[in-house]
Amino acid sequence: MDEKSLHNNVGARLSAPALGDGRSPGEKSTCNPKLHIGVLALQGDFEAHLKALSQAASKLGVEIETRAIKLPHNLEGLDGIIIPGGESTTIGKLMVEYGLQEGLRQKIRAGLPVWGTCAGLILLAKETDNALAGQPLLASMDICVRRNAFGSQRESFETDLSVPVLGEAPFHTFFIRGPAIESAGPEVEVLATLDDGTIVAVREGPLIGTAFHPEVSGDPRFHYYFLRIVQSVKAGAMDDTTGTIR
Ligand code: GLN
Repeated sequence: MDEKSLHNNVGARLSAPALGDGRSPGEKSTCNPKLHIGVLALQGDFEAHLKALSQAASKLGVEIETRAIKLPHNLEGLDGIIIPGGESTTIGKLMVEYGLQEGLRQKIRAGLPVWGTCAGLILLAKETDNALAGQPLLASMDICVRRNAFGSQRESFETDLSVPVLGEAPFHTFFIRGPAIESAGPEVEVLATLDDGTIVAVREGPLIGTAFHPEVSGDPRFHYYFLRIVQSVKAGAMDDTTGTIR
């Protein structure tokens, strides 16, 4: 199977773990290998992600090793990657300058779990209706996004989002000159919308995109959700016939 169809299969078959997975926070499973998570650290808010990841890992009862990704060799041996917020034009430019674009693309095609927040979401989108000409992108998720979608009054705002995969309690989060997801393909699961229906969080197989900044809310549930996806992919826990995680 070539890399593209492998990725498509992962995308089609992986169904997301919900938090109500029967495991209480902190409970260790008998088979719980250490997770290696990288956060792209070219520009933007990567330290808050590292902190939220450690909190989520201890809730999940899994050992984690986090690393800042700055150079291609930092991609080796990772189980999952976060692409943080910042300025997508700058991150994209640095990604090319530091020789990371092709390596990241290959990892994504091979089915590695990747989560893009805000500028990271823009980099992951296959279509951006107002990207700058020649803006380097990873173009991996079947979504179309609009950069800086919220008018000047709401350019930055905080809100309580309903995110069913995180449980019933609303997720308080921050939009900082964020993008909106204008359309999503058939394989894309919508995880959250604003009250007016604007899509702001999506998942496509092992790829997640959020238009906001979950790392500054002090609520590690989104990071926990991402780690559960990473764990499932690492364990190869996908049922080929039903598409569910075993
Ligand atoms: N407006 C930024 C962009 O277009 C994203 C902002 C953010 O990541 N907080 O890239």
